[in-house]
This record gives sequence, C-alpha cells and structure tokens, in this order.
Amino acid sequence: MKELIEEVKIGCHVSIAKSIDLAFDRAKEIGCSTFQIFTKNPRGWAFKEISKEEIKRFKEKHLNYTISPVAAHISYLPNLASLNDEIYTKSMVSFRKEIERCVILGIPYFVVHSGSFKGGTFQEGFEKYVESIQKGVDFGERKVTILVENSAGGEKTLTGTFVNIKAILEEINDSKVKVCFDTCHAFSAGYDISNQSGVANFITEIKTTIGMESISIVHANDSKTEVGTNRDLHEHLGLGKIGEIGFLELINDPDLRKKPWILETPIDERRTNVDNINYLRSLINK
Ligand SMILES: [Zn+2]
Ligand SMILES: [Zn+2]
Repeated sequence: MKELIEEVKIGCHVSIAKSIDLAFDRAKEIGCSTFQIFTKNPRGWAFKEISKEEIKRFKEKHLNYTISPVAAHISYLPNLASLNDEIYTKSMVSFRKEIERCVILGIPYFVVHSGSFKGGTFQEGFEKYVESIQKGVDFGERKVTILVENSAGGEKTLTGTFVNIKAILEEINDSKVKVCFDTCHAFSAGYDISNQSGVANFITEIKTTIGMESISIVHANDSKTEVGTNRDLHEHLGLGKIGEIGFLELINDPDLRKKPWILETPIDERRTNVDNINYLRSLINK
C-alpha cells in the first residue's frame, strides 16, 4: 500500500498581479503543491516589463518554497497555426517572448493551445503548428518543455483528438515537447469521462496514442456542457457534466495520479480554489 500514500500534486492557476513572485505566496496560501501562471496579461498583445528584482524574488521563492512544478500558460491571443500572415507574425513574437520569460524565470513547462487553421486546410494548419512548436523549443533554449494542450474539438482545431496530438508529437519528435491533458476539453471534444467505463476507454485511448508518459500536466476542470459539445466552459469539480464519478476514476488512475493536477476552475460564490483543491483531494483513495 505504500505507493498509494505518496502525495498527489494538486494546485491551481494563480495571479501574478503586482509582482510575479507573489504567485508563489498565493499558491502557498491556497495550499497548492504545484501551480500555473500567465507570464503577462493574457488578454492583450502588450508586455509589461518584469523587473530584475521581481525575477530575483521569483527564483528565490522557487528554491525556498516546496512547490513544484511551476507551469506557465500562453496568453489568449496567439494562434500558432494561423494561416493569416499578420496574426501569425504577432503570435510568434508573443510566443517567443513568453517562452523567453520562462527561461529567465526558470519555469520548466509552457502550455500552448491547439491553434486554429481557419481559412485553410487541416494539413496547412498542422504544418504551421508543428513548425511553430519546433521553433518554440529553440526559443526556450531546450530548457522549457512545451506542452501541447488538447482542445475542446470542433471544426478548425488541431488537437481535439489524441490521434491528432500523436501525429503532432511524431512529426516534431522531440523530448522537449509533451502534452497537457485538460479534462474539460477532452469531455467537450467527445471523450465521455463521466463514468467508469468511459474513463477506462479514455485511458486505453491515451495508452494507444500518445502514451501516458507524454502527459506532463493535467488541467482539472469540470464541464458546464454535455459531452461532445465542443464548448470550452469550465465548471467546479464534481458540479459539472463530468461529475464526481468521472474525477474519482481519473484521479485514482495509477498513472494519472502521479501527474501534477492544476485547476482552472471558476471562482464564484459556490466555491473557491481552496474548496476545489480540497474536493479533489477528498476523492483520492487512501
Ligand atoms: Zn486548460
Ligand atoms: Zn479551457
């Protein structure tokens, strides 16, 4: 029974407001054993300078607080599969700067979205995306692992299925490129992980495509909408359509429970981040 007692790493997305190093204090206060940040305001293209002092404090806290791994998530606007030259150029500038921040801050994981190939074919988008991620590995000086996140699916997305993600990984063929598995996105994309047999099928799908070892981080989010809707609407764990049985099965999977679980759940009057973390912890079979 010994291996079952080891702690499952659970945390959430935290704010970098005021000073980026405060993310560590926020994570600590919430009781995170891992966490995720944006390295800039996620809603625009602009970058606010990070001072040398902030970087220094961030690195000190990274050493002194026992919270790891730390992950960063790409801002909302970049589209790494864009077939529009202007958007693509802007996207790559932001992508590069954000990864460079990870290098400077010593952040080992950078999560990127799927990208949309609007206005072109799947193949065109695929090639663009693969090229972008390959460049990203260089931007990160091979110190940052780029995590391709599965999407909620839909017509113009590349990563709605793990078969497609496998094709992307195979094409890139680099140990610095891995996967972030988002539970809400998988469910919205059509993987019914709300019950025992559904989760078992899903695990088989992972093992026969990308392999469990390709997953570096789990984004733990319930879904406001039904399976296969292709909508990305996060819900508190257990209160959405994936529900308690789904998360009970997922968190107790012997492979998945070894991964860092990072929540991106809403914050409202129903639950706080602490509540969601405690809820997820309560589902772990001791
Ligand atoms: Zn996510
Ligand atoms: Zn999402």
